[in-house]
Amino acid sequence: MQSAHLQSKYETSWHPSSWKSYDTVQQPLYENKNLLEQCLLNLKSSVNLVTEEEINSIQYYIQEAAKGNVFILQAGDCAETFLDCNKFNVKTRVQHLQNLAENLKNILNKPIVIIGRIAGQYAKPRSHLLETINNISLPCYRGDIINGFDFNGEARKADPLRLIRAYECSKSTFTWIKDYLRLNLDIKNNLFFCSHEALHLDYESALTRCSPKSGKWYNYGTHFLWLGERTKNIHGAHVEYLRGISNPIGIKVGPNTTPNELVSLVKLLNPENKQGRITLITRFGADVAHSILPSLLDKIKNTHLSVSWSCDPMHGNAEKTQHDIKTRYFKKIWQELNETINIHKKYGSILTGAHFEISPINVTECVGGSANITEEQLKTNYLTFCDPRLNRDQSIEIVDKLANHLLL
Ligand code: PEP
Ligand code: MN
Repeated sequence: MQSAHLQSKYETSWHPSSWKSYDTVQQPLYENKNLLEQCLLNLKSSVNLVTEEEINSIQYYIQEAAKGNVFILQAGDCAETFLDCNKFNVKTRVQHLQNLAENLKNILNKPIVIIGRIAGQYAKPRSHLLETINNISLPCYRGDIINGFDFNGEARKADPLRLIRAYECSKSTFTWIKDYLRLNLDIKNNLFFCSHEALHLDYESALTRCSPKSGKWYNYGTHFLWLGERTKNIHGAHVEYLRGISNPIGIKVGPNTTPNELVSLVKLLNPENKQGRITLITRFGADVAHSILPSLLDKIKNTHLSVSWSCDPMHGNAEKTQHDIKTRYFKKIWQELNETINIHKKYGSILTGAHFEISPINVTECVGGSANITEEQLKTNYLTFCDPRLNRDQSIEIVDKLANHLLL
């Protein structure tokens, strides 16, 4: 009964707000509904941040990656912040991504496509609604597009004006990235695209427009969007939203994903089975990847679904130290990546890319690497507002290990 009902809903026509009649999770509750409506109206008449040609071009490169002709590096902050949104910071991030891509290219001997987690990565899914410190409970920080990081009631309120600020910051970031890529003629790799999680559906649908050229719907706020592990319910609003846009889509695939569920999700989001449309970004955790990935690879292959496979060795490997600091251990990150590469090789499939949370400076958020950051050192330069990132040296190291292992 339930599924027949949902089936018929999916057959009705899609529009940028059709997600509103589906199960909606991870959305903020705004007190000031009037202000929210005004902000959304404002966003709806804002200028596009990307072009249809750019979006089609990233989809082409993802197709090429699936053939093994290019490799995709998707990386950046877990959460961008408004305070970090300035020309210097953006340039530093882009430069670091370019360096990593150059290193990859020199080893792999093929073009590298960069997809930054940048210019719009302002919304975070959270496992809990509340955060409690010293017996005081407040709403969790959900990313700068929603509320503030400071632990006080005012900051933690969802503020609709932040939607406008997120758009303006994304817009400036796009401008600075383009300036940087244009002005630095020594840059050999300028296959640079932007991405963020498709999480805040009011924001995403306000930037979703029908192309006057092709009649297709695109999210003009970024090139590539991904569906998070917490919002990938096949009957949910996020899946409904994403199925209607023509941007290429990533799907985070966590350890509880069953082969049948994955197949249904991929079919729903890519009914025409177009190569380049779907990138499955596996993020299982170092100790379980080997027990889950093979059955998913088999199932996707036997169902003849065209997908690209990427590996995010970050999100299945978050841990707390004995002093309650959220961290990730470099050796676990490498273990998952290493095992994932081995499994793809064994099954004859291609790992088309990798997905990391990184910082261009030497923060101390992840333990290990050749600089051997210890648990005790984590506090010295722990700057992330959300998940722990590999620092400059650690990200150079992981990319080097990745490239050399891919070649073996
Ligand atoms: C993320 O990429 O920041 C994230 C929250 O990932 P996931 O949905 O895989 O947990
Ligand atoms: Mn994260």
